[in-house]
Amino acid sequence: MDGSELIRFDRVTKRFGDHVVLDDLEFTVASGKHVTLIGPSGSGKTTILRLLMTLLKPDEGTISVGGRYLTHEERNGKLVPAGEKHIREVRKNIGMVFQQFNLFPNMRVLRNITEAPVHVLGLSKEEAEERARELLELVGLTEHVDKYPSQLSGGQQQRVAIARALAMRPQVLLLDEVTSALDPELVAGVLDVLRDIAHTTDITMLCVTHEMNFARDISDDVLMFNEGRVIESGSPEKMFNDPDHPRTREFLSAVL
Ligand code: ADP
Repeated sequence: MDGSELIRFDRVTKRFGDHVVLDDLEFTVASGKHVTLIGPSGSGKTTILRLLMTLLKPDEGTISVGGRYLTHEERNGKLVPAGEKHIREVRKNIGMVFQQFNLFPNMRVLRNITEAPVHVLGLSKEEAEERARELLELVGLTEHVDKYPSQLSGGQQQRVAIARALAMRPQVLLLDEVTSALDPELVAGVLDVLRDIAHTTDITMLCVTHEMNFARDISDDVLMFNEGRVIESGSPEKMFNDPDHPRTREFLSAVL
């Protein structure tokens, strides 16, 4: 947790057709920080996470992670659009948990977690399983290691998805409304696990959530989005208790 810059969006614009979803966006996230993106639906929050996962490409601007461009690579001293190999390398540093858990339905819990470390990172099966069991303990699912996803509740499946993302030992964990698809009684268990991870590891987190109490608990910084721009940012104390921007006040009074 050295506080150096880990993520940088530099003048990023993303359009879908004529619709400008991110507008000349600039922000940085320091290593080890937990940053929450808030703002009305459609303001571009998920698009940011999808750009970081390289599921989308920006139309303009650059994105870097750990000092390496995700969007570009240097060839012969010139910055050119990144190739697949470069993207794969930089992306190894980034894990993501989605609203829908997306577990492999035909694999037991343990194998869901070991699959990528073995095939992408080249870990031995034994190493990957040892790491997976540690992570299952962290997310409170030790006794479910041999089950299939369909035998678990939504909350348990989401905790497996969190363990699976962490198994790649990413520097950054992206969380995209990870409790939105859960029955209300299962939300707290997942948020408790994430709180625990936020407070006990040095992983950098970038989080889109409607759970404002959770955001208040774990965030170092809160960024308020509106129409593809950050209109205000600050500590959770400042943002939730005394925001400056009328749009932030309006948004928070509707959701709190
Ligand atoms: P948020 O996460 O803040 O709700 P999103 O990043 O999901 O916002 O979406 C921002 C805007 O981009 C929305 O208006 C949405 O309809 C639009 N959008 C997102 N993905 C696509 C897509 N693949 N094609 C067209 N429009 C999209």
